[in-house]
Amino acid sequence: MSFSARQRVFRAFVRARWLALRLRTRPALLAHQERQMGQWRQHVIESFPHHDPDTLRMNKADLMADFAAYNQERLSADDVRHGLETGYVHEDVACGISSGTSGNRGLYVITDEERYQWLGVILAKALPEVWRTPQRVAVILPQNSALYQAGNQSGWLRVQFYDLRDGPEQWADDLTDFDPTTIVAPPKILRWLAENADRQRISPTRLYAAAETLEAPDRTIIEDAFGLHLGRIYMATEGLLGVSCNRGSLHLAEEFVKFDFDWVSNLLATPIITDFSRRYQLMAGYRMNDLLHLEDEPCPCGSPLQVVREVVGRQDDVFWFDTVMVTPDILRNAVLDAHPEIDDFRVQQRVDGTIILRLPADLREETRHRAMQSLQAAFQRRSLSPSITLETISRSDLFERKLRRVERLRT
Ligand SMILES: [Zn+2]
Repeated sequence: MSFSARQRVFRAFVRARWLALRLRTRPALLAHQERQMGQWRQHVIESFPHHDPDTLRMNKADLMADFAAYNQERLSADDVRHGLETGYVHEDVACGISSGTSGNRGLYVITDEERYQWLGVILAKALPEVWRTPQRVAVILPQNSALYQAGNQSGWLRVQFYDLRDGPEQWADDLTDFDPTTIVAPPKILRWLAENADRQRISPTRLYAAAETLEAPDRTIIEDAFGLHLGRIYMATEGLLGVSCNRGSLHLAEEFVKFDFDWVSNLLATPIITDFSRRYQLMAGYRMNDLLHLEDEPCPCGSPLQVVREVVGRQDDVFWFDTVMVTPDILRNAVLDAHPEIDDFRVQQRVDGTIILRLPADLREETRHRAMQSLQAAFQRRSLSPSITLETISRSDLFERKLRRVERLRT
């Protein structure tokens, strides 16, 4: 632990708390963004003369195709991959890789200064009491990251990382010994902990779902088992994008990231982000793969930050039938609304356009039938009648990869 790390986290924490107090109206927030964007534009002009900050558009493929063009020291993707192996990429710079599907994994580079800033901001939003109550935070995600290590380096809290890919049986006892006060994990892991609560003997005071879509049945099981409200953290390789407030609404981190939206349907939008708080790696006009259902109403907590009703799924999991699209929320609601007994499901579209509905093996025949009918009806309302086969959920791969209940298959 270095003293300066602790100080830097504290500075970012205080600034984030101060911004939350100061930016209480939408005009105040937008004025703040405009000032920050002005400084950021100047930085881009000076450090990235080959990019025009006003017209720059990028996505993950662009970034990976020419990684060096988007970071200050012109580190290439190979430099970063080498850095991941050796543990060193550049002085005061950390690197990482996203947990995406193979072939689609994003790399990132971040300075120590930015890592501590990231930590200060996330603490200010997710664990505001951290400065008076010592916290033990268990992070259960598919990929360890220099970002979580910043927690231990800060001396502010203890962070223990558990590798999701190992499966809970591998680390469940260690987790009990660690006795976390806060757990950050995908909903499927929190649900596993909830369903094994008698064995786990843990009593966290805060729970945050991250990394995967949170579905209603998971939320109910988790909240009932722990007697806690489940918070949400929306983050990606691309940065910290949102954290839920004390009223449970997921607010976008608009004090640090500018969000534009590309509307996919009249309800759902894909975010295009410009992270004006990061300097080392450019993230500008960056098109995400997520589909967000944005809330029209302001939150009762009083924050002017845009509320996301839910992260519905991924843009590339939209089902296509020629030019007709069906978004993941429609399919999920069709299945879950068919019967309250249904607490798990998968809907997949094969390359040939046919559909697989997977349900738990122990579901009653009548319930399975209703789910099937409800899904058929959802397609028929769009004048579609794809062939649907009913299969059983295989749980063997649950912890090996990202859970996508609605998925467009690639092979
Ligand atoms: Zn709120």
